[in-house]
Amino acid sequence: MIVVMQEDATDSQIKHVSHLIRELGLREHIIKGTERTVIAALGDDRAKNKENIEHAPGVEKVMPVLAKYKMASREVKKERTVIPLGGTLGAVVGGKKNCIIAGPCSVESRDQLLQCAQEVKEAGATALRGGAFKPRTSPYDFQGLGEAGLKILAEAREKTGLAIVTEVMAVDQVSLVNQYADVLQVGARNMQNYNLLMAVGDQKKPVLLKRGLSATLEEFLLAAEYIISRGNSNVILCERGIRTFETYCRNTLPLAIVPEIHRISHLPIIIDPSQGTGHAHLVPDMCKAAIAAGADGLIIETHDDPEHALTDGAQSITPKTLQEIMPTMKRIAVAVDREI
Ligand code: PEP
Ligand code: MN
Repeated sequence: MIVVMQEDATDSQIKHVSHLIRELGLREHIIKGTERTVIAALGDDRAKNKENIEHAPGVEKVMPVLAKYKMASREVKKERTVIPLGGTLGAVVGGKKNCIIAGPCSVESRDQLLQCAQEVKEAGATALRGGAFKPRTSPYDFQGLGEAGLKILAEAREKTGLAIVTEVMAVDQVSLVNQYADVLQVGARNMQNYNLLMAVGDQKKPVLLKRGLSATLEEFLLAAEYIISRGNSNVILCERGIRTFETYCRNTLPLAIVPEIHRISHLPIIIDPSQGTGHAHLVPDMCKAAIAAGADGLIIETHDDPEHALTDGAQSITPKTLQEIMPTMKRIAVAVDREI
């Protein structure tokens, strides 16, 4: 259920309602909107006398939340969530500006990453992606540089001001990755790793949550709910394509998820056209289509020498290609009332 406070509700009235929620054995989650505050009561509230809270001063109404994902739903928060990422270039996801996150699939070496970072910055990206811990299908493939890779990412932020987005694969990596990254990426294969979701929900940095390979939209939002219910509302959803019978591309990229998420959730959604297609020649047009569909940003794999990339070379565009598609993406953004 949610308790909608009156527009002029005071802090002490909000505190009082939080206290009543706790008395019911539930946890409060306070969402301060631009007009009014909404307090969500988390936990199993089926047998509680929650309607009584309507008597408390400053309360407008008490409502059930119909969606299974409560904190992630628009029923609870009408205005869109805007998430500043960090760095010094003003990287924000969910505002008027589309956020461009670019960089290699994996951090391979210091030279590779620093050069790529500089180039994606010049192309207009405000955040840098790069995996230091890589989820690989085969245990014999390159697994990432680990902490050494995180240090290189942090150096790239120092030198360029780009915010750093990097994957965390396990609960016991969360505090390490948190020390270096600005945004913690939870990969598609971990979307239903509930312990990991709770662990990234227990820290404060934004989380970029990839959609699972065969997850439904509801499962995706329930994964976000795990993170938010631990106290971290800064969840960026990322569609990266799903597994279908189709073989011409690595995954099928369902862009209709963008307007649908915007309809049912307040969370921002970005598109990963690289994992989403698996082929560099499809990436530029999918970047443009994603912006046209209203996506809040893009996360794009870029590599200076894709032929020799240690991971995902086939789907990596070069920073030069990124630079070339940027003017068109900017025009499309303006056409749909956004900016890049
Ligand atoms: C990646 O971003 O390189 C990656 C492994 O993504 P996903 O988890 O979407 O497969
Ligand atoms: Mn990749």
